[in-house]
This record gives sequence, C-alpha cells and structure tokens, in this order.
Amino acid sequence: MANENTYPGACFCGEVQFQVTGEPAGMGYCHCESCRHWSAGPVNAFTLWNPQSLQVTRGAASIGTFNKTPRSYRKWCMKCGGHLFTEHPQWNLVDIYAAMIPGLKFSPGVHVNYQETVLHIHDGKPKMKDLPAEMGGSGVTLPQ
Ligand SMILES: [Zn+2]
Ligand SMILES: [Zn+2]
Repeated sequence: MANENTYPGACFCGEVQFQVTGEPAGMGYCHCESCRHWSAGPVNAFTLWNPQSLQVTRGAASIGTFNKTPRSYRKWCMKCGGHLFTEHPQWNLVDIYAAMIPGLKFSPGVHVNYQETVLHIHDGKPKMKDLPAEMGGSGVTLPQ
C-alpha cells in the first residue's frame, strides 16, 4: 500500500481534516436539483470512492450530517459550514467533492442527471438523462 496515492482534504476552516487513498471509482458532474440546492452552485463535481478509502484524521466530532433521502447523507463541518462529502449507502460509495481534494487530477468521465441541468457544458462527455443503468437509472443519454 506504500505506493498508493493519498490525497489530503480539509473543510473551509481546517477543523475537519481527512485523507483519501487509492483511485476513485468514477468522476464526473452531477446536475441534479438536490446537489444544486445543497451546494448553492450550478453543478457538483464528484469523485466516487469506496468508503474504506476515506479516513477522517481530525475533527470527526465536528461533522454534521443531513439526509433528505436515504440515498445521500451530506456531510459538512459544523464550525465553518464548509461541505465535505456525501455518503451514498445504497451504492457503497462516498462522493468526495472534487474541490475538496485539490491534489487529485479531476478527470470527469460523465455528466449525470443532465435532464435537470441549468448549466449546459459542451465538453463532449456523455450526458446521462438521470443515472447509468448499473446505478439504478435509465441509462439514457441526452444531446449536449
Ligand atoms: Zn470547518
Ligand atoms: Zn446530484
């Protein structure tokens, strides 16, 4: 494991610190209304990891959790309000927002929930109407 990559991350104030080890299972952009409303930004740049890859190294007691649905447990720092990551229990994955781990080269492969977009991105990457079929979606792609 010594040669596995480790990417450090921290909340806005530094109270919560974590590291993630290995490589993500997937990277892309989510255009859903929930990500937009939660993040106050037009899209969520996500990186998906096996939960075992994530280790909170400081400030675990300061992590708040909110789940509007059983699919997404959104985590933030209760001191500064800075967002951290979202757990997706039914997929056994955790979305560590790309902005939280700047050491990782962000290589988005797909756009998901593009039917809800407010920011069209003409990058030639596949635009899934909702989610890939293997993640319980329709698997339908939309034009750019
Ligand atoms: Zn903080
Ligand atoms: Zn989303």
